[in-house]
Amino acid sequence: MSAYKMAEANNRVIPTEDKIFGINQKAKEMAKRDGADKVVNATIGSLLDDNGNLVILSSVVEVLKNLTPVDYADYAPIAGTPEFISAIKKAAFGSFIPKSYTEAVATPGGTGAIRNTIQNYSKRGDRVLTSDWYWSPYSTIAQDIERSIATYTLFDEEGKFNVASFEEKIKELLSVQDGLVILLNTPAHNPTGYSFTIEDWNSIISVVRSAAADQSKKITLLVDVAYLDYAGDEEEHRRFFPLLDDFPPNILVIVAYSLSKSYTMYGMRSGAMICMTPDKEIAEEFKTVCAFSCRGTWSNCNRAAMATLANIYANEALLAKVTQERQGYCRMLVDRGHAFAKSAKEAGLKTVPFEAGFFVTVPCDNAEEVGLELQKEGIFTVPVGRGLRVSIASISEEKCRKLPPVIKRAIDKVNG
Ligand code: PLP
Repeated sequence: MSAYKMAEANNRVIPTEDKIFGINQKAKEMAKRDGADKVVNATIGSLLDDNGNLVILSSVVEVLKNLTPVDYADYAPIAGTPEFISAIKKAAFGSFIPKSYTEAVATPGGTGAIRNTIQNYSKRGDRVLTSDWYWSPYSTIAQDIERSIATYTLFDEEGKFNVASFEEKIKELLSVQDGLVILLNTPAHNPTGYSFTIEDWNSIISVVRSAAADQSKKITLLVDVAYLDYAGDEEEHRRFFPLLDDFPPNILVIVAYSLSKSYTMYGMRSGAMICMTPDKEIAEEFKTVCAFSCRGTWSNCNRAAMATLANIYANEALLAKVTQERQGYCRMLVDRGHAFAKSAKEAGLKTVPFEAGFFVTVPCDNAEEVGLELQKEGIFTVPVGRGLRVSIASISEEKCRKLPPVIKRAIDKVNG
């Protein structure tokens, strides 16, 4: 029986309060009561400057301000304007030009791309595979369309990519399902900050290829690159793309690219899903089914955001300006990560393997209690199962340096 008065649960477990929002609210209340200098709010998943203000790329704002009324007011084609589709492929792939067929469909952020992938490449009731550390909306999205998440163990005992667990889980799921959607979030994974190395990618590819040797199985690799432009060197972190360019037809690659972080357009809800396949018909089918899903959910996406990206890519000088501005903030973020990692090492605080990105995760028992203990000192983090997620994107380098010994003390106090 449904616990709701009017609504149907439809097998979903719906929390009454958004956890991150709740903790963020507590941090804001404390800052108001005791002063902002008494609070470290490391809960927010947006890039903030050292004064706590949202980083907004001024070069992007300039483009936005120069849009025409039609760019704001008119509907966009369901799958996106042709100029946007061409621009977003360049934004995602950088200088790499795939030989695969690459169709793209506009989505409201990376979230829409993930949703459409699960909807179109798995069946109702299927399990979708991702790592044990994962961005919780993956589960929300899966549940909302009557799928669920299965996980493999991301790291082995030595803190390396756990290819054995990845392989085992794929075999297990494919023994009971005809197909499998695999969600990989890299580089600068949320919540750990880990980026798959080229060696990890080679292992992933070899496992996926051997699973697809059985031609009756269909495998979709969704590469969620939400943090691609904040992982460090932009070209270096796109080096894995060519490795995905030579799959058999029953392995479909879908890249979920988001303008939220890369172009600081979080609220404008723009991004795309881009497929890579050796089969032209599979690419055309991708466009048809994904556009149908768009029509059946949000219809078309934000035209002003599409026009902004298209205008940036139509003008080399503008593109260089945006890239340069973003690189400055990317360096700021990378420096914060290094400061946190160095201080953690000195304080003897263990972190989950981290390379770069918006978050660092500290593994610990009783994460909820440790989180509450830290809140007493004005430090707000997000307990994520077996650890605490610390948003280094939202705190200064100085705070990144100061936090690790305090976290270590709180863990020792709670866990003895
Ligand atoms: N994937 C991950 C891992 C994320 O953390 C986010 C945003 O926080 C997204 C995808 C997509 O965000 P958006 O829908 O704003 O593009």
